[in-house]
Amino acid sequence: MSLTHDVAVITGAGSGIGRAVSLKLADSGMHVVMVDLDEKGGEETLRLVKERGGEGIFVQANVSSNSDVEKYVATAMDVFGRIDVFFNNAGILGAPARLADYSEENFDRIISVNLKGAFLGLKHVLKVMEKQKSGVIINTASSAGVHSTPFLGGYSASKHGIVGLTKTAAVEYGPEGIRINAICPGGVTTNMTKGMEMNNPEQNGPLQRPASPEEIANVVSFLASNEASYMNGSIVTIDGGLTA
Ligand code: NAD
Repeated sequence: MSLTHDVAVITGAGSGIGRAVSLKLADSGMHVVMVDLDEKGGEETLRLVKERGGEGIFVQANVSSNSDVEKYVATAMDVFGRIDVFFNNAGILGAPARLADYSEENFDRIISVNLKGAFLGLKHVLKVMEKQKSGVIINTASSAGVHSTPFLGGYSASKHGIVGLTKTAAVEYGPEGIRINAICPGGVTTNMTKGMEMNNPEQNGPLQRPASPEEIANVVSFLASNEASYMNGSIVTIDGGLTA
């Protein structure tokens, strides 16, 4: 499979799915701009990329801050001059609670990181891609963005919101030569799900196991490639059949 693009920006690159995608795209020869709030995690992903002979930089940024998003986009442009692939992925789960007990603070924080963060990333990266008249964006939603997720109301709302942003962006920017799709993973073994019961068949669906971050990265890499040239506005479940 050929990834003909050159530069990828990946948010949430310091751990889990974002790290696996950073390594996968770097392995395919792309220059990777790794963004994360967690400096230690981001620097470790950069070290792993370099250890494998890849090229990239780490930018510490909070995806929910407009000035930080401007900073990571500007840094990518200063260093590499273009953005071909944007993996809009950073996210948090928040504390679980039924809705009546779900705190306003918890809700605001999740919406700010997951939904506003994805919006700001789209806003600033689309400006770059619009000028280029090319680009591919993959937003990380979740199975929680397409079906109910009891006790995770704020998270589910944020991920349904990302599905809405994805469809809107795909229709607005398809004519500019930019493809925008979303992935909806089910359970994935990452720091986000550490300590959770991940082998419960009800949570995992027919394949009865969680995904590895690498299994998610394989699909992201495909969506980023020209092999997926007719995919735009697709909400791609990667959940072992959980939401089937
Ligand atoms: P993870 O916790 O391993 O990685 C998330 C990364 O995002 C971390 O490195 C964290 O530091 C970073 N991050 C958090 N808030 C940030 C902020 N404000 N600014 C910048 N970076 C920030 O989790 P993961 O499982 O790899 O999650 C990645 C994405 O996948 C998230 O959007 C998550 O909602 C989604 N997802 C995860 C699962 C799962 O089961 N793990 C399932 C469906 C969707």
